[in-house]
Amino acid sequence: MGTKGKEIVNLDVEKLLELLNKALADEWLAYYQYWVGSEVVKGPMRPSVEKELKEHAEEEFKHAGMLVERIIQLGGTPLLNPKEWFEKTNCDYEVPSDPHTVKLLQQNIKGEQCAIQVYHNILEFIKKGNDPITFNMIRKIMEEEVEHEQDLEDLLDDINTKREL
Ligand code: FE
Ligand code: FE
Ligand code: MG
Repeated sequence: MGTKGKEIVNLDVEKLLELLNKALADEWLAYYQYWVGSEVVKGPMRPSVEKELKEHAEEEFKHAGMLVERIIQLGGTPLLNPKEWFEKTNCDYEVPSDPHTVKLLQQNIKGEQCAIQVYHNILEFIKKGNDPITFNMIRKIMEEEVEHEQDLEDLLDDINTKREL
């Protein structure tokens, strides 16, 4: 990896790598939670929910790729064994055993809120040093997590909106 590129970040790189790998575990679990959720989902507004969950799955997958690229640039090793996802995760995994749209949306909203907090904490850590590359990457990911939360809350809101006839 770029020795100079690592030197200038002015942070505890090992600590940063640990934070990035923990976020990587979250992204993979989020990916699968969305992906399998979109396959099993049932109930009101099913087509819209299915589509949104599938899109979010793809976006979480992209986040995982961004994190891995940066981990390698910083001289780290991305988690190589899926077993580690459960050991390292901040946000855990909500089993979609009840496939109702409302339940899946609630579970995924909880996941997004956790992700937003995780990325907020990583940004706070980076602010102590000088690593604009990781900072910008995390900021971009966080923007999408905020959008995800909003999308899911809007869908939940639509499902819960009753019209008096
Ligand atoms: Fe994500
Ligand atoms: Fe997300
Ligand atoms: Mg969306």
